Amino acid sequence: MDATGQHTGNSPAETPKGYVYIVGAGPGDPELITLKAERVLSEADVILYDDLVALELVDQYGAVKIYTGKRKGSHHFEQEEINREIARHALAGRNVVRLKGGDPFVFGRGGEEIDTLRGYGIGYEIVPGITAAHGVSAYTEIPLTMRGISSSVAFCTGHHAGKIHVPDTDTIVYYMVASTVRDVLDAVAAKGWAGKTMAAVVQNATRYNQKVFTGTLDEFRRREKAVYSPALLIVGDSIGQYIERNWHSRKKKVLMTGGDSTRYKSTDYIMVHFPCRKISGADLEAVERCLDDLGRFSLLFFQNKFSVKYFFRFLFESGRDSRSLSHMTICTAGRAAAEELQKAGIVPDHTLEPDAAGGFAGSFGELGITGRHILLPGSNTVDHALVSRLRGLGNEVAPLGVYAHEVRQDEPIDLDFIDEIYFSSPTCVGNFRALFKTIPGRITISSADRDTEEEYRKRFGS
Ligand code: SAH
Repeated sequence: MDATGQHTGNSPAETPKGYVYIVGAGPGDPELITLKAERVLSEADVILYDDLVALELVDQYGAVKIYTGKRKGSHHFEQEEINREIARHALAGRNVVRLKGGDPFVFGRGGEEIDTLRGYGIGYEIVPGITAAHGVSAYTEIPLTMRGISSSVAFCTGHHAGKIHVPDTDTIVYYMVASTVRDVLDAVAAKGWAGKTMAAVVQNATRYNQKVFTGTLDEFRRREKAVYSPALLIVGDSIGQYIERNWHSRKKKVLMTGGDSTRYKSTDYIMVHFPCRKISGADLEAVERCLDDLGRFSLLFFQNKFSVKYFFRFLFESGRDSRSLSHMTICTAGRAAAEELQKAGIVPDHTLEPDAAGGFAGSFGELGITGRHILLPGSNTVDHALVSRLRGLGNEVAPLGVYAHEVRQDEPIDLDFIDEIYFSSPTCVGNFRALFKTIPGRITISSADRDTEEEYRKRFGS
């Protein structure tokens, strides 16, 4: 670790730069993460995470979470923007985790991200993760090497149909084949691999909905196979070891709507997490309480334009206007927030630089802000690091969620793969019913108590 990367405490004079961990989250099963990754995630101020990272994993940590993926309906981050975003948070003195599916250095663009960090002189570490090939191999019982069958293995990309490499190894694992699997198989055949060579496509490896297709090269090339992302293609004769009823497929998959999972033995069951709570933007009750008691606060700090916009929406909706803030010092960060504030007829007392060394807390320190009661409207994911630094300066701080941070929506649960559903409360039954009108008859239902069971009967009529 170089000196610039050290955490040097809260003193603004030392202008600490943050530190970045580029972390591999593993292939899907949230338990496939290293102890080191768990530690740095729990210490992070900001987590920037990708598509392939399990949400139930990210959900466990208190940091501000920023989704950088490319799923439909969300802001599309280009790689360069991601690089800049990582650097921006680090330069503001934050402890950043960049969380990526699998391993950051296997088709993970981790190399580009550290290039940017090197350029800024920001301290960083890389925490390896289990790459998809290893996840697939373990969860399908297909060894990548095996005495007498495979003594070499290569990881390749199937992404660029025109430039598919077919290395001279016993086993080849192709990543990114969802739209190119046919081209990849054709390239392998064209390189002279025998038509009877075994191949396997594995979708959603290590997750409850893992699906495996096997066959020979010829068979695969003959039959049209839909391949859904994320999927991996393996070619090589160690696939002959595959058995349909393996340790992963034989386990029952239980959809848990909360509650205690220890009632299910992990040798027999796989828990599937169903987020039962509704993600809503503001904490309406807290907003109401706060607006009723504005006299208590002496300083109002808006970190961005959304916090201004939504705070004032609530203020106006409650029948109040800007005059009810006249006793407070008002601070904003950045130009956009100041402009948004002017729409409400207010010019901020102080405009802080979002990228100032030492972060916002450093700027408050320089302004000598202490002994104040600060109201901090922001997203529903509280920036705990900022709160504790402001408290460290001798202030009381009340964070208030007035809007939802962009969160990735969980993919819908695929009930085709579920054997049992456990309802932990009547509310969860209700939330579940809002998404699923019926439950296939073959699925076993269990309920935490009698009320829950009654709610289930009422909602699903059985
Ligand atoms: N850094 C990642 C790979 C990112 S590229 C790693 O080390 O695994 C994305 C590709 O990884 C996908 O197109 C798919 O081919 C593969 N992949 C990632 N997770 C997967 C999973 N759970 N099942 C199957 N393939 C997966």
